[in-house]
Amino acid sequence: MALENNTAQLEAYRQKQAEEQEILKIRMGKIKHKIAVISGKGGVGKSTVTVNLATAFALQGHKVGILDADIHGPSVPKLLGVSGQQVKSSPAGAFPVTGPLDMKVMSIDFFLDEASPTIWRGPLKMRAIKQFLVDIVWGELDYLFIDLPPGTGDEPLSIAQLLPELDGVIIVTMPSELSSTIVKKSITFAETLKMSPLGVVENMSGFVCPKCGEKTEIFRSGGGEKIAQQAGVRFLGSIPIDPKVGVDSDEGTPFVLSHKDSAAAKAFMEIVAKVQEQLKTVK
Ligand code: ADP
Repeated sequence: MALENNTAQLEAYRQKQAEEQEILKIRMGKIKHKIAVISGKGGVGKSTVTVNLATAFALQGHKVGILDADIHGPSVPKLLGVSGQQVKSSPAGAFPVTGPLDMKVMSIDFFLDEASPTIWRGPLKMRAIKQFLVDIVWGELDYLFIDLPPGTGDEPLSIAQLLPELDGVIIVTMPSELSSTIVKKSITFAETLKMSPLGVVENMSGFVCPKCGEKTEIFRSGGGEKIAQQAGVRFLGSIPIDPKVGVDSDEGTPFVLSHKDSAAAKAFMEIVAKVQEQLKTVK
């Protein structure tokens, strides 16, 4: 009897997995490009770059979604000013929250109390990411950006398994020797997971004086470009430090929307063009 029950349970589980796989295929089939954003370590501005790149694509008229796959430190909703919003459900699934420029956003942040830390092991994180892809009605999108947590943990592995059709990853770094070493690891990690590296973005690359326009190197810039060259990966561009980036982030406004004419916003727009070129080479 117990054996029969186990067999029935196993069969039900297999069936559910197959159904989920089918739904995943249908949902993801409606999204033209899926791009993950990674970094070797925290604090290099990966989430800021994800949100502003996504906004820059949306500014060009594309339909854009952002999946915040950082389960422990979700920051995308805050950067887009949609933190604390409710996710609406329907029999077809839950709907992503709508951010600026009609961007679709999903994050664990919408389901948690702000102050509680997420203490989850790998399988639970994998489950959450799978549900974000399977149970969320993303609809038709041109681009889905996936903000992955820094490092080489469970989340990128989950994405690699769930989305074999991922176009590739953008690696964000900042100019320092330590970041350079770590970015090499990120490239190798992406390649090991069969995620093709679309290119490297060097964030916080120098400071452009808002008064005279002169660029001052705060850290030793150019490391990102050198590493990209050495690794045979495209260098997508560098974004200068701009104190307004931090202020806008705190206020939940994407910088490329509120300071379109700044050097940093222009750098984002140039990166968009390069990413689009690069996408043509991977598909
Ligand atoms: P990560 O996702 O890599 O941990 P964040 O995107 O959270 O990093 O950025 C870390 C901090 O650096 C934030 O306070 C953000 O506002 C700031 N920041 C990121 N990029 C820039 C930039 N180009 N100029 C100024 N501040 C920046």
